[in-house]
Amino acid sequence: MEDAPLSAFSVFFTQTASFLTYQRLMEGNKGQSNAQSLFEVHQIPSDNHIRHLLDAVQPKCVFPVFDEILQVLEQAGELTRFRSFAETLLMAMDGTEYFGSSQIRCPQCSSRTLKSGETHCFHSMVTPVLVCPGQAQVLPWVPEFVVPQDGHDKQDCENAAAKRWLLQYGCRYSGFNLTVLGDDLYCHQPLCQLLLAQQFNFILVCRPDSHKQQFSF
Ligand SMILES: [Zn+2]
Repeated sequence: MEDAPLSAFSVFFTQTASFLTYQRLMEGNKGQSNAQSLFEVHQIPSDNHIRHLLDAVQPKCVFPVFDEILQVLEQAGELTRFRSFAETLLMAMDGTEYFGSSQIRCPQCSSRTLKSGETHCFHSMVTPVLVCPGQAQVLPWVPEFVVPQDGHDKQDCENAAAKRWLLQYGCRYSGFNLTVLGDDLYCHQPLCQLLLAQQFNFILVCRPDSHKQQFSF
């Protein structure tokens, strides 16, 4: 079981475009490979084997890793490097799709109808990421998954997921002196109030066409 996530994780450190090519590359390497030497994988599993083993694992099982990394970096004083505007940590919040298909679907899929009339199923999430101008590295924080109950509208979905994230993790990070960065779709009173309640600063895009009242003066 340990070999499966380690092998999957190691793919992100290669320049190989596909998982399968990477697998074949490892196999062709006479049993010795980066997977074994760097990631301490004992037996390199096949990609089907990895999918079969990891499909059943709930994402929340790996969530504690995000916090552990954050703690290690904080204790080592590394988070200081990420402080920028007004000595705060900038946390960019945005939605992203990590699966999409017109053929494969599951009960947790969100869906939209394409112009062709076809139904496109997808999974998306809100990903808070610590960013800093001039820093090539970014630090991802625990994501919040969009669920079908959040609705069909992209704005509603992302807002519902962002609210869940703030309610669940906000108080834990309120001492970090954070400034949340976000798109126009987060820029409305309920979310701003929630951000303030969690003692977060925020810089949100405020477009004239969606904020007619503010721009009418
Ligand atoms: Zn699905």
